[in-house]
Amino acid sequence: MIAIVFFKKADNELFAKLKGRLEGVFQSEDFSDSVLSLPLPLAAFNKKRRQYNSPEILRGMLDNSVLEDYNKVLGIVDEDLYTANLNFVFGQADSVGGKVCLVSAKRLYQSFYNLPENAVLFLMRLSKEAAHEIGHLLGLVHCHNKSCVMTYSESIREVDFKRGQFCSVCRDKIKEKY
Ligand SMILES: [Zn+2]
Ligand SMILES: [Zn+2]
Repeated sequence: MIAIVFFKKADNELFAKLKGRLEGVFQSEDFSDSVLSLPLPLAAFNKKRRQYNSPEILRGMLDNSVLEDYNKVLGIVDEDLYTANLNFVFGQADSVGGKVCLVSAKRLYQSFYNLPENAVLFLMRLSKEAAHEIGHLLGLVHCHNKSCVMTYSESIREVDFKRGQFCSVCRDKIKEKY
């Protein structure tokens, strides 16, 4: 079972839409119906950077008894995330083939770029980044196919360029694991 947890107030409408998208992308109904929410660990906040340390949140997720019963967990964070050597990350998985991953919604909103909000585009971006991180949990590494959802995106332009689906090579690798 794959769980989706909100690190803020749970958003039922967004949960339903995202879950529906991911079930389509993964051709799987393995996503839990429970809408979970957890507080962000304060220790993960870096005051100087005004960002949250992604590995710190992931560690907390691995230790959290609420998430014990799930095989894989996707966390949705509204705050900006960073990891040691990067200014920011759209998301991160604890490891390839690991258990927990995170996506930050912060830079997926058009308003972050001072543009009018677009709910459809936001959901598309969120489901792409969520599928990418869950892909890592299912054993996938970055894909060289720039339109594959497993390509590494450094900018929102690259997020928008790639498709929301796995290329046939990545899809076959997931199938082998399942
Ligand atoms: Zn990645
Ligand atoms: Zn691929």
